[in-house]
Amino acid sequence: MSEFEHISSRGGSGSVDRPDPASTDGLSEAVAELLPALEQFIRFEGKDPAGRRSLWKPALDEPLPLQGAGPQAVLETLRSLVIPNGLRLGAPGFSGWVLTMPSTVPAAAHFAGMISAPDHGWTTAANFIEELALRWLRELLGLPDSYEGVFTSGGSVANLVGLGAARQHACERLGLDAAGEGLHALPRARAYAGENAHRSVHRALGVLGLGRQSLQVVPSTDQGVLDVAALSEAIRRDQRAGLVPIAVIGVAGDVNTGAVDPIEAVAGIAHDHGIWFHVDGAYGAFGILDERVRPLFGEFRGVDSLVVDPHKWMAAPVGCGAVFVRDRDLLSRTFTMEPAEYLEEEPPSERDLSSPFDELPPIHHFALELSAPSRGLAVWAVLKEIGVAGLAARVGRHLDCARRVADRVRVTEELELLAEPVLSVCCFRFRPPAITDEERLALLNNEIARRVRARGRCVPSTTRVGRRLAIRPAFINPRTTLADADALVDEVLAAGRSLVEGAGAQVRP
Ligand SMILES: *Cc1c(COP(=O)(O)O)cnc(C)c1O
Repeated sequence: MSEFEHISSRGGSGSVDRPDPASTDGLSEAVAELLPALEQFIRFEGKDPAGRRSLWKPALDEPLPLQGAGPQAVLETLRSLVIPNGLRLGAPGFSGWVLTMPSTVPAAAHFAGMISAPDHGWTTAANFIEELALRWLRELLGLPDSYEGVFTSGGSVANLVGLGAARQHACERLGLDAAGEGLHALPRARAYAGENAHRSVHRALGVLGLGRQSLQVVPSTDQGVLDVAALSEAIRRDQRAGLVPIAVIGVAGDVNTGAVDPIEAVAGIAHDHGIWFHVDGAYGAFGILDERVRPLFGEFRGVDSLVVDPHKWMAAPVGCGAVFVRDRDLLSRTFTMEPAEYLEEEPPSERDLSSPFDELPPIHHFALELSAPSRGLAVWAVLKEIGVAGLAARVGRHLDCARRVADRVRVTEELELLAEPVLSVCCFRFRPPAITDEERLALLNNEIARRVRARGRCVPSTTRVGRRLAIRPAFINPRTTLADADALVDEVLAAGRSLVEGAGAQVRP
């Protein structure tokens, strides 16, 4: 018998009255041991740890522990190997992704919720706050009270929930219950979105049984947003061919260039055809807080479902998305769990007011999860700490950052703006007059981005605008200021100039 079989066959040490081997006290001491390393980490000093793989990987790659090494061994590994080698998403110069590190207070709230609000199944203060946070978000986004909100793990699942409601809506109009009966009686379905729809939308359509190929990609205008005339045309063509339209999907802030589809106009077309209008505002919906771009969002009028990711611009800890859906009952018909004794609940209309569950909305009827962490606590913490005014100031500062990059690009001969900033993304490239070949420019800018990232002061990503390779800073990080936007332009210029001056040969394909 191996030691593994020996241990598992007798259920560990087996004694009836011994305490559990996991420590269940000493929380302060455990956390205190990690805090100096965490504080050090968020100073983001020294070289980026990503390059030190050869140091930490062999040290961590241990076999399955048959005997526990005890709490100190775990804390020591976290302190010395895991935390210092983490991902510097929160560094002020990091603008590579539309994701960031939480600010301090929502991180603390998340931690508090992990201990004190481990689930939704009771009317506790934290669970009340979960509801309050949804109410606050709904009001901030300008949605009517009748919209049902749910937290999800992020925008991907939020898109799945919103499009699930859209599928139910379209099928019920044909007398089919998609969630109850399945899709076998459904004729071929269609959803519509612009070229910049986030890829989680395609996946959601796949998971919902409609197929990734059910997405009709509508051409963009020159401004990179959904072309409403082309949308109308596509819907009419498909309806003549007997296809069933499920949803029109608008993007309120695409992650590529920050463009916002013309929400109000698209809503009009969707509703003229009786089609559900889903808006993916995972990144950009909070743009509604800035007067300069507010009109683009059309007050979210006519939106049937709206996704927003508090773990992006709001800097809540990652794992926090939300979706608001116009019709609560429809949402519940889509995601309801069949009744079970262990769920111990009355139908909502007959709820027993003396039960501890009395005031809880039955969230497991509205989305995909049952046991789930408290996400509202972090959202509530952000809004209570900085208010709508604080969030609007952050959004405004990041819009300024994108515009600062654009302004500097415009007055610098070797730089070229590839898309006028709309929200907080600015796509540009290094383009010395002597190089006109697109392939060479793409190689050159890829190399510039690589060198800039390797230096560590600024971490942008790249994308393509049309066929042109762009350096793409996306500003959503609470620690980022205009100085970081300036530094990025300086870094790109320095890297570009040294590459071109140093050796023209290096940048040839
Ligand atoms: C980030 C993002 C998503 C995906 O959200 P996750 O939280 O990463 O799952 C979807 N759509 C848009 C527009 C996004 O910015």
